[in-house]
Amino acid sequence: VNRKTRLARQNTRADSDFATRLLAWFDRAGRHDLPWQQDPTPYRVWVSEIMLQQTQVVTVAPYYLRFIGRFPDLATLARARLDEVLHLWSGLGYYARARNLHRAARDVLAQHGGELPRGPEALIALPGIGRSTAAAILALAHGERHAILDGNVKRVLARRTGEREYPGSAAALARLWTVADALTPAARVGAYTQAIMDLGATVCLRRRPRCGECPVAEDCRAHREVLTDEIPAKRPHRARPRRSVCMLLVRQGACVLLERRPAAGLWGGLWGLPEFADAAAARTWLRERFARVGTLRPRAPRAHAFTHFDLDITPLEVRVRGAEKRSSRALWYNPAAPRRLGLAAPVTALIRELGD
Ligand code: SF4
Repeated sequence: VNRKTRLARQNTRADSDFATRLLAWFDRAGRHDLPWQQDPTPYRVWVSEIMLQQTQVVTVAPYYLRFIGRFPDLATLARARLDEVLHLWSGLGYYARARNLHRAARDVLAQHGGELPRGPEALIALPGIGRSTAAAILALAHGERHAILDGNVKRVLARRTGEREYPGSAAALARLWTVADALTPAARVGAYTQAIMDLGATVCLRRRPRCGECPVAEDCRAHREVLTDEIPAKRPHRARPRRSVCMLLVRQGACVLLERRPAAGLWGGLWGLPEFADAAAARTWLRERFARVGTLRPRAPRAHAFTHFDLDITPLEVRVRGAEKRSSRALWYNPAAPRRLGLAAPVTALIRELGD
């Protein structure tokens, strides 16, 4: 047997061993009581997987329970108003996820009779479902063998294999998918999928991983070579842009004026405050709409971090009289008797502070 074949055999053994060790650890120390693990229907797994993207389990759990309580099945979600979906998502961030979930539910109801399709390609064709999410749905809900590669799993596998390139790059991603597939066992795929996600979330932490408790430390390259601080590699540095905006708190009686944001873009489809480049632009806009416009009063500025840039917000408060013409894109919102609307987190905070 030549060296290459011997090495390949050793690797295969280590790979199948990886799943065995991981599963034994999962049975002993993994998380078994997460809300979405109870009765994991494809719909429930899907909702949880979308919520868990970029968001931790502790944050997601109460949102998930409220969401499933209101939309217990796909048809209920598909028939709901987007406003109500966004309302239940308010504060969870990355609102495109909620819009896509809603749109995909409608597509599934119209095109697949209300059942999520069973094939990975058909799942990936739905809005907001990528390769890893499709695999997680099929593995967790149906026990089918598909490899996942979410953020946590990327970190585990990058460290295991000593991947030095940024895991978001196309070349590193392709290598990690190959590893993910080779490691995925044929049996107990659902448990394995949960196990590797748990390992990333609770042991192979981004900072200070708990290698001493790790069931697969033995053949982990980053651990062996003391590279856990360097792997996964950071995204190549790009200057982080800053934008600034004035948000107008237009008040009339007990109410604040809200506008529906365009479907695409920041906080798409949510309700927000009218925005302007500066106070002069805001003043012009106000005079065109209201009979009486008070003094613009600045409130404490704040910053909001998005994935790709920072937004500096200068809130300006103003009292007006003589309501603006009715429009389907604007409404008077009474914080004392709030309507169920999707509001961006800084807008909720600004409105709340008005009452304080
Ligand atoms: S040994 Fe450490 S770095 Fe390697 S997979 Fe386990 S926790 Fe992660």
